[in-house]
Amino acid sequence: MATLKVGGEVDAQCTRCKLSLAHTILAMVGTKIARVRCNTCGGDHAYRGAPGATDRPSSSTTSSTRAPRASSSSSSTPKSEKVVISFEEQLAGKDIANAPRYSPKDTYKVDQVIQHPTFGVGLVTAVRGDKVDITFKADTKTLVHGRGGAPAEKPTFSPPTSRPSGPADKPVPVASETSAPAED
Ligand SMILES: [Zn+2]
Repeated sequence: MATLKVGGEVDAQCTRCKLSLAHTILAMVGTKIARVRCNTCGGDHAYRGAPGATDRPSSSTTSSTRAPRASSSSSSTPKSEKVVISFEEQLAGKDIANAPRYSPKDTYKVDQVIQHPTFGVGLVTAVRGDKVDITFKADTKTLVHGRGGAPAEKPTFSPPTSRPSGPADKPVPVASETSAPAED
């Protein structure tokens, strides 16, 4: 766009002609045209750019009170993209009918489908040692597994004999779901 200056020409919407016509710039405020004179009718009026022909930033027209996108609250962090696909989608293609009943004595692996007497059908999403994360329809539970033929019947807990006391060695409380559902 050519440099706008007083005395120059600009296309503007004439308030009298009701048309976008060539105007002579009469006054400017900063880089914005303030007043123009219509070259057609000779009338002076405040500048209003032809639709689509202005170079003013569009963000100044509407403040940020009306964000076009919903759910743009400032506090929500973008990292919480956890489970996007639904539970039914996760179970799609899985052999639910032949899913074994959950038992802490069995050993499970990721992506396995199990049936839990309390929580129903679940999908193993993570295995960490003797714990498995199983996603049920209502919630994700951390259960134990592999307690069957393993030589160590008790949870692997050894007193800190040799290592210096560190904060990372506390036994994690496991939500053992062998009885009633734990508090939620
Ligand atoms: Zn005019």
